[in-house]
Amino acid sequence: MAIKVKFWGVRGSVPCPGPATVRYGGNTSCIEIRFPELDNRLLIIDAGSGLRELGNYMMAHDFKRGALNTSIFLTHTHWDHIMGFPFFVPIYVPGNRLTVYGPVSYEQDTLRGIVGGQLTYRYFPVREAELAAEIDYVELKEGRMDLGDGITMVTRYLNHPVLCLGYRIEFRGKVLCTAYDTEPYRNLFITDPADPSYDQEMAREGEEVAAEQNQLLTEFFRGADLLIHDTQYTEAEFMPAKLGWGHSTFEHALAVAAQAKVKRLALFHHDPERSDEQLDQLAARFGGQREGMEVFCAREGEELSL
Ligand SMILES: [Zn+2]
Ligand SMILES: [Zn+2]
Repeated sequence: MAIKVKFWGVRGSVPCPGPATVRYGGNTSCIEIRFPELDNRLLIIDAGSGLRELGNYMMAHDFKRGALNTSIFLTHTHWDHIMGFPFFVPIYVPGNRLTVYGPVSYEQDTLRGIVGGQLTYRYFPVREAELAAEIDYVELKEGRMDLGDGITMVTRYLNHPVLCLGYRIEFRGKVLCTAYDTEPYRNLFITDPADPSYDQEMAREGEEVAAEQNQLLTEFFRGADLLIHDTQYTEAEFMPAKLGWGHSTFEHALAVAAQAKVKRLALFHHDPERSDEQLDQLAARFGGQREGMEVFCAREGEELSL
């Protein structure tokens, strides 16, 4: 086994604990990625509320073997993806080292300001400057990074209201991709010939650009052993109420994953309104074996091997 994946948070938007979400879990995005052949090297994707429990696990298990040296890769800085950071116990322990990677949308912002800025007296009893661990912040753009030990990280912008990165991690022939939060690219020009502002040339160009962007993302996922994809809505819920919110549908995720010849597809970033029963129904409708891939609704606590 080259890569081990564990879901610590699978929800979008806001934590939703309670009796209706016990089985799929109520924490927001946090994924643990281990490389058992590399002395159990650990990467984390996203610092949603699931990060709290992962931090506790790391202190109880990994810390026994010495100070921690960990990286968190943020897909983006929306609150549901960073809110677990102040509750990540390793940042309070001297000797631990942490590097936080992520995209920053606005020039006047810094990653330290956005993520560490949650730790100010305005919101929290501890300030970022008081954290005992050594923490570095690295702003990421699109590109390819060598993470050492033979691990390659490729990043690609997704379609979301702020800069948001999809990750592609490659190690010893295995590939793991993440694509959330993201909405399918659409033609931004008026496509209705009856509309007075309709311009045939612009409509055609818009169509081409959207198709090209969607195709580039499909190539980014090409052949992945596991793709973790945003499926906050169904197509019926999406159109037109949620258009432009930056999320995908089950139908869209299935189509791109099949086109990219992905082996396993994890349906992820579940809407906080969905109960366990509703997710069971969605899993029955969209999951299982289809077009040569295994499709399932991601569940908190679930572990996978690639
Ligand atoms: Zn989100
Ligand atoms: Zn978001």
